[in-house]
Amino acid sequence: MNLDPSAFPEYNTAEAGPMRVVIATSNPGKVAEIREALSGLGWELLALNDPSLPEIVLPEETGTTYEENAALKACAAAVISGLPALADDSGLEVAALNGEPGIFSARFGNLDTANGRNLHLLEQLRGKPDRSATFVSVLLLAYPDGHLESYRGEVEGQILEGPRGPGGFGYDPLFLLPDGRSMAELNVPEKRAVSHRGRALEALKAAHANGAPKREISRLE
Ligand code: IMP
Repeated sequence: MNLDPSAFPEYNTAEAGPMRVVIATSNPGKVAEIREALSGLGWELLALNDPSLPEIVLPEETGTTYEENAALKACAAAVISGLPALADDSGLEVAALNGEPGIFSARFGNLDTANGRNLHLLEQLRGKPDRSATFVSVLLLAYPDGHLESYRGEVEGQILEGPRGPGGFGYDPLFLLPDGRSMAELNVPEKRAVSHRGRALEALKAAHANGAPKREISRLE
């Protein structure tokens, strides 16, 4: 992908006010967690359907890693909007399933609903003693001039025998943390403190604390 920096307006100067950043996800659970975690940064976080933005259709997740899929989403949103864009790609890696569903977590069993996927997971683990699993999140912040920042967070836990707790989204009701609570028993700030996405968001926040300059990781080609 070739990007011409001169094609984009200034987006990160003091005169321009707070940095406007597009949250490149249509998952409301992720949006809530990202907004809560980054509230102290002073950025203006825009939803994909913000009326000030052109229509942004996120591409298919055709990558083979969390990083690639997050980059696909973040870069598309950055190119279309002309603003920095933040995407999360995440998944659940289950040891007894050789790390599946991993990057395919949103499509596990080809099922359309979180409930269906959770039942499918329970079915796949029936009779298997090893219930250990890891949630992984990769956050990709893409700037319209082609700069990329990447942050990763992970949390280990166990898959419960059945759902527990009213909060969160996706596999949260089946994910038991070491402290004995399921991820769905936590509110948003509590989940941030222990979750894969919370850890990745904290790393992003630390890199940008005190207006720290953006960190160049790589350039779009
Ligand atoms: P994607 O990042 O859009 O490919 O989707 C990631 C999928 O992984 C979600 O649809 C959920 O099924 C699962 N997932 C990722 N993060 C979480 C989480 O924090 N809680 C529960 N499920 C999650």
